[in-house]
Formats: sequence, C-alpha cells, structure tokens
Amino acid sequence: MHLILLGLPGAGKGTQAKNIAARHGLLHISSGDLFREAAAEGTELGKLAQQYMSRGELVPDKVTIGLLLERCAKPDAQAGFMLDGFPRTIAQAEALDEAVGEREAAVDAVLSIRVPEEELVARLAGRWSCPGCGAIYHQLHNPPRRERVCDDCETELAQREDDRPETVRQRLEVNREWTEALERYYERAGKLHAVDGTGEPSAVAERLFEVLAGVSAAAQRV
Ligand code: AMP
Repeated sequence: MHLILLGLPGAGKGTQAKNIAARHGLLHISSGDLFREAAAEGTELGKLAQQYMSRGELVPDKVTIGLLLERCAKPDAQAGFMLDGFPRTIAQAEALDEAVGEREAAVDAVLSIRVPEEELVARLAGRWSCPGCGAIYHQLHNPPRRERVCDDCETELAQREDDRPETVRQRLEVNREWTEALERYYERAGKLHAVDGTGEPSAVAERLFEVLAGVSAAAQRV
C-alpha cells in the first residue's frame, strides 16, 4: 500500500503515521526526518536543506523531490510506504504520481487528519520540551511534576520557537494553504479520506484503521 498522511501541525500526524506503518507493515518516510538526518550528517544536501529549515521555509521542490523519490525507490520501501510531510506542493504531488505510476504502484489513499483550529492552538501552545533529554510535556495533558522543570533530568523546560502562542496561528495559516491545495488535488483523484483527529490518539488510530480497511477491501474488489 502507498499512503499519504495530511494534517496541520499538532494534528498528530507523526504519531499516527507510526501507528499505521506498524499495523500495515509499511515504511514510514518523514521528509522532515530525512532533511534533519542529512543536516546532522553534514552532507551537501543537508547543509542546503538546513538553510531553509532554519528559516521555516520549504526546501526547493527540485531538491525535495529528488531526495524523496530516491527514498521511495529503495528496497525497504517496496512493500509499501506511509509518507509524512511529503508532498507539500502540487509539483511534489505530480512528481510522486508520475514516479509511482511508472512503477505501477500508484498512491492508494490520502488520509487527512482534521482537528479544529482552537484545539490545534491549545495543543501546540501547551507543548514544552526538555533541552537536556528531549522529553516532551504538555501543560494540560502531561504536565511535569514541578512547573517547567524536567521530571527526568531536572533541566529547565523550553518552548520551541514556533510553538509560542503568538506564532502558532501564523504557522497554522501558512500550513493550511498548502494542505488545502493538496486536499483538492487528491479529492479530484478520488483518493482523499478525511478523518476526525479529536480525542485520544488510540481512538484516532482506530478511525484511521477503519478507513484503511475500506480502502484495502475496495482495492481487492478491483
Ligand atoms: P517537518 O518536520 O515535517 O515540519 O519538516 C521540517 C522542515 O523540513 C520544514 O520546515 C521544511 O523546511 C523541510 N521540509 C520537510 N518536508 C518538506 C517538503 N515536502 N517540501 C519542502 N520542505 C520540506
């Protein structure tokens, strides 16, 4: 199966991509992770990507498409993949369609996790992380025992620059633009499935599994 997961920041895309990949034996490919790995390795591509990432801008299509299509063509992706963070532009979606179409393995379904804006703001703006050990807390859902101090290593917690309440709305707005454009693209192809992303992560996972069971059954009937 070849799947794409869409959702605004805070919708739970990363968590659910892992759930689906594990359940269906798919390779989870996160474009953000690929760029961060390349940056950490200090490759030419990584250095280039880092310039865009640090400004919060999209890495140019030419670079992104090359990297992602190469990853999707590797042997460990042959059993299927779950894309997370890619495509983010129509040009990327078209390039993916062309590439997987050539290998007779077109995109089967695009799952869009929907969460109301107010809840996304609350989720993102309440998120704090530990610069020491990377632990993640949430003001409401998973607070540390001592205010703004890590339970595990006692480092003072910090908020990601782009998780500050004043920047969260703007970040959502920018993401909404390209997410909606991609949704229209895949809706026209009859591949889009919207899933309610509110409630417990396990409940959201069940909804996604249900949609995918329908997609598999429909594919077998063809
Ligand atoms: P993410 O972890 O998905 O938020 O991605 C982190 C950063 O990597 C983004 O802010 C972009 O700079 C870059 N990036 C990730 N995926 C893409 C993509 N599909 N197209 C362009 N840039 C991307």
